[in-house]
Amino acid sequence: MASGPRTVITGAAGFLGSHLTDALLAKGHEVVGVDNLITGDEANIAHLAGKAFTFVRQDICTPLTIDGPVDYVLNWASPASPIDYMELPFQTLDVGSYGTRNALELARTKKAVFMTASTSEVYGDPLEHPQKESYWGHVNPIGPRSVYDEAKRFSEAQTAAYHRYHGLDTRIVRIFNTYGPRMRLKDGRAVPAFMSQALTNQDVTVFGDGSQTRSFTFVSDLIAGIIALMESHVVEPVNIGNPHEVTIEEIARTIIELTGSTSRIIYNPLPVDDPQQRQPDISRARRLLHWEPTVDLRAGLESTIGYFKGKLGLA
Ligand code: UDP
Repeated sequence: MASGPRTVITGAAGFLGSHLTDALLAKGHEVVGVDNLITGDEANIAHLAGKAFTFVRQDICTPLTIDGPVDYVLNWASPASPIDYMELPFQTLDVGSYGTRNALELARTKKAVFMTASTSEVYGDPLEHPQKESYWGHVNPIGPRSVYDEAKRFSEAQTAAYHRYHGLDTRIVRIFNTYGPRMRLKDGRAVPAFMSQALTNQDVTVFGDGSQTRSFTFVSDLIAGIIALMESHVVEPVNIGNPHEVTIEEIARTIIELTGSTSRIIYNPLPVDDPQQRQPDISRARRLLHWEPTVDLRAGLESTIGYFKGKLGLA
């Protein structure tokens, strides 16, 4: 049994939740992972048998009972790919509202530090560029993405209220586009979509004209930033992301080149309210956490391609 802190992670079987679990176990935490597996995958945590890890299969929209002390509650459960949250609108709204409330209540009763996974989507289709944490965002409250964007904004509001009214020790991380091993082949987000298409020489589906931008962070950099924030005393939201901004067409072309694919790019309609540009301003993370990303885009993409080759039986 680990003698370090005891941490509850909701969404522990997801892409980010499982990497976070690995990193905290490596730091000597005991981890209780909770997941209902609607978008998570038990394969992401299968290697943890025999480690200081317990898995609880539960929807966090029903209240959580965890025996014994808890030092940290990390609220990572939520569909996160646009395709998922548009197919699971009510589950997405519920996990951001009831789910976050239950996780906050667990932290309050255990006197634990609470951290919530927020998102660059709280900035919507931003009119300020790059996005600083002080920007309040430009979100369509009734558009198809609103089930995710508003649920995450509501999660932040609940977290801030628990800090203000209950004195709960809270953290809010605003996560920008992240990629890496353990994303699902059919996740629907740009990097896994382009990689699975390029590796099988199918058409690469760029939405719109591909001039919209994102700034992609490799998962190991993101996890280092999350842990730095968790271990700090910074209560205000912090952007964690790589400011290296690229167009979607550029990332599609880079993935085709790195996979040596014969795929061609086809242009499909741009989804409604798809943000035109996104780049984090990370001065707050640099100043308060002394964190910044170190993994270069091509190196991160190559490592992710290796993972997808394995998944497709091409390794
Ligand atoms: N995108 C694309 N083709 C795809 C999937 C996504 O062109 O098959 C675009 C999408 O329209 C968006 C960008 O890639 O402009 C990033 O999309 P993703 O779903 O990865 O994340 P988002 O930042 O939109 O949440």
